[in-house]
Amino acid sequence: SKPCLCLDIGGSKIRSAVVTHDGRVVAWEQEPTCARNGVTGVFESICRVLDRLLARNNLNTSQFEALAAAVAGGIDMPNGLVTQSPHLPDWRDVPLRDMLTERYLKTFIINDASAAALGEHRLGVGLGVKNLVYLTVSTGIGGGIIINNELYLGQSGCAGEIGHMCLDINGKEDVCGNKGCLETLASGTAIVSRVQTELAGGEFSILVERFKADYSALTAEDIGRAASEGDRLCLGIIRQAGEYLGIGLVNIANIFNPELIILGGGVSKLGEIFIEPARQVLYKRAFRLAGDDVRLIVSVLGDNAGVIGAALYAYACLDSANNQP
Ligand code: BGC
Repeated sequence: SKPCLCLDIGGSKIRSAVVTHDGRVVAWEQEPTCARNGVTGVFESICRVLDRLLARNNLNTSQFEALAAAVAGGIDMPNGLVTQSPHLPDWRDVPLRDMLTERYLKTFIINDASAAALGEHRLGVGLGVKNLVYLTVSTGIGGGIIINNELYLGQSGCAGEIGHMCLDINGKEDVCGNKGCLETLASGTAIVSRVQTELAGGEFSILVERFKADYSALTAEDIGRAASEGDRLCLGIIRQAGEYLGIGLVNIANIFNPELIILGGGVSKLGEIFIEPARQVLYKRAFRLAGDDVRLIVSVLGDNAGVIGAALYAYACLDSANNQP
C-alpha cells in the first residue's frame, strides 16, 4: 500500500514525515510550533511543514493512503477533536481531523504519546512485550499504555495523561488547570523554569557567562550541556526533576504492573544524569511486586516515534474499516 503522510504536533516542534507501511521514515521536515497566534497560528505552522515536505519531495496528496497526526493533547477520537492541549494555547475542542481532511486527505488523529507507545511496541524496544507504558518527557509529559498487546485509549481517546497526575496538591499551577502535576516538576519546561528562577535569584552557574543575563531562550538542552560540564546548579535541578519523574514511575508501576516502561521525548536525551535518579526512586519506592518486575529503557525510535506510531494507527483503522462486512 501507499505511504502515510504523517505529523507530530508538539508543544515546541512540529514534524511532518512520509512513513511507509512497514514504518520506515523516508523523508521529514520540522519547524517550531508557532503557539503565539493561537489555533490559527499553529494550524498555519502545520500546513507550512506539510506543504514543504510535499514540495521538496515532489509529492502530492494522491500518493498517500491517509494523513496520520499525532497531537500533544487530549483527543476526542470519535469526533476528531483536540479537546485540550496544555501547550497549545486556545486549543479547545478544535476539529483538527476535519480541518486536515478538508485541506489534504483523509485524516486520523491520535495523542502523541499514545502514538509513540504504539510505534515502540510494534517496531521499537517494546517489540514482543505484552504490557508496557511509554512516557514522553518533553515540553510536557505524556503517556501511552499497551495492555495485552493492545493500545489502551480509554473511553474517548484521552487515556494516558500521565503528566497530569498530581504530585503536590498545593503545587505550581499547570497549564491544564490543575496544580502540582508531574509535568510541573519534571518536564523540560519545569527544568528550564527552575533554572531561570535560580539564576534570577543570583545563583552561580556557567550559564551566567554564557547567556549574559538573558535567560529567556534557555532550553533543557543548554542545561543538560552545562550539567555534563559539571555545573552544580544544573546538575542539581536535573537530578531533582529526575527524582520527581521517579515518583511518577512508581505510580505507573503500582497501577499497571508493566513489564517495561519506555522513556522518550527530548528531555530523556539528557541521559543518565536525569534517568539514574528516576530509576533509583522507582526501585526504592515502588510496591514490591510491581517494582521488581518493571524494566526502564530509553526509546529507540526517538524523534520519529510519534510519526511512525501515527502511521501504524492509521493503517490499523483503514484495515479494520476494509474488513468490515
Ligand atoms: C499533554 C499530553 C501530551 C504531553 C506530551 C502534555 O501536556 O497533556 O497530551 O502527550 O504533554 O506532549
